[in-house]
Amino acid sequence: MNLELFNKSANQLKKQNKALLTDLKSSRGLKLDDLFHRAHTEVFEKTECLGCANCCKTTSPIFYQTDIERAAKSIGIKPGDFIKKYLMMDEDGDFVFTSAPCPFLKEDNYCGIYKDRPAACREYPHTNRKNIRQILDLTYRNTLVCPAVLSIVEKVRIAIEKNKHK
Ligand code: SF4
Ligand code: SF4
Repeated sequence: MNLELFNKSANQLKKQNKALLTDLKSSRGLKLDDLFHRAHTEVFEKTECLGCANCCKTTSPIFYQTDIERAAKSIGIKPGDFIKKYLMMDEDGDFVFTSAPCPFLKEDNYCGIYKDRPAACREYPHTNRKNIRQILDLTYRNTLVCPAVLSIVEKVRIAIEKNKHK
């Protein structure tokens, strides 16, 4: 994955994607979950996350209590020590990593706590979840982080355009 090229395209499409995803919030009559889930499946069939890891390099997952407990156990320390060593509270009151890249990201892009990674990592980039309409702002932000999301949004845009001309 050429992340430099991705950043360039993501920035070029920024305005267009912001407008589309803002419009979709109030769109009615569109089966948004179906559109996103179809595009998600198509894109991830061809996406090699191990050649990318841009999410792990640039953003932090949110850690809920169960995530903290599992991750702490995985590396053999107490939850309180895990918080002290790796986490801080963000402006929304959620626990996140103090820095990026993720301290568990290995040089070969594998996750050092893969089996015990937080739910947010398992579910990223959330484009196959239900009620996608509720997370369109996050999806927009993820077009600037995740090459797969950029492609998914593009596929959704094309599908909507095609629908209009039917
Ligand atoms: S815990 Fe693993 S999957 Fe999650 S950000 Fe870190 S390296 Fe990536
Ligand atoms: S989820 Fe997106 S940003 Fe993360 S590794 Fe896969 S393609 Fe890259």
